[in-house]
Amino acid sequence: MIKETAKQIEERFGKMDIKIPINEIESRLEKLVNEFKVPAEEAHRSVVNYFLKEYNIPRGDFYTQDGEASTIKVNEITTDGKWVNLTAKVAQLWDNTHESIDQVGLIGDETGTIKFIKWARAELPGLVEGKSYMFKNVVTSSYQGRFEITMNRTSHIEEIQEDIEIGTVDVEFEGAMVDIQAGSGLIKRCTECNRALIKGVCGEHGKVEGTYDLRIKAVIDDGLIVQDALVNREVTEQLTGITLDEAKQMATQELNQEVVLEKMTEKLLGKYYLINGPRLDRYILVETVSPLPPMEAGKVDALLAELEV
Ligand SMILES: [Zn+2]
Repeated sequence: MIKETAKQIEERFGKMDIKIPINEIESRLEKLVNEFKVPAEEAHRSVVNYFLKEYNIPRGDFYTQDGEASTIKVNEITTDGKWVNLTAKVAQLWDNTHESIDQVGLIGDETGTIKFIKWARAELPGLVEGKSYMFKNVVTSSYQGRFEITMNRTSHIEEIQEDIEIGTVDVEFEGAMVDIQAGSGLIKRCTECNRALIKGVCGEHGKVEGTYDLRIKAVIDDGLIVQDALVNREVTEQLTGITLDEAKQMATQELNQEVVLEKMTEKLLGKYYLINGPRLDRYILVETVSPLPPMEAGKVDALLAELEV
């Protein structure tokens, strides 16, 4: 990792006809990463800045030249600590939980979506949901096995007129359904915006009549990872054998909407499934689901048991 980064820095300065001994770059990186526990991406930036100062090169000159960051697609992000350019649309802005973060959410292009973090001290322009941008000099990183990008002081953001179509990549996951969360079963949606209503109230439009729908917010556990899954009406009907009409009847008879959720939980909880569908943020949007025999699904436990021997 350090050797690779050092090589990148050496080559990058080499393009500007500046030869820096690679062991000098390496030892600076090593010190930051190993001794001071600086994150790899920060260390990279800090070492580059050190040599820019040392050789009197304006930062603007260095970062606006080609060669430092390569232009790639979202699904090509497979390593961390890489400087890249992306053309992408802001899919979602999330609630910000930390003052050092200016904005956080999801951006995407035709190959998929990725989480982004825009640091407050980067002083970059504000992003608007649904707008497309050219993101230059952003850095890839990984957190809990998933890739994300960060936008820092050397990043540039430019709004573009083109409307990027966000595509998705299908993934497969198998495991036990260990939880079915509140907001599952027979629900009502806002007729204006399709949001699920909570006690008859839409977060955007207030108290509305709404229309009935079925869905399941499931948690699937394969023994290593806990995966959230969203199951739409069509797949829910197929999975539970309960149609929307039947669900409405059940709720009317019992004078209780929750009875549907109870029935579904009884049927599905603890069973093993193979699910398939596009990944959106922390969810898999389930398009197909097949039950697995418990023995097959017990594979993971068996493997884990073997490893402990
Ligand atoms: Zn609404």
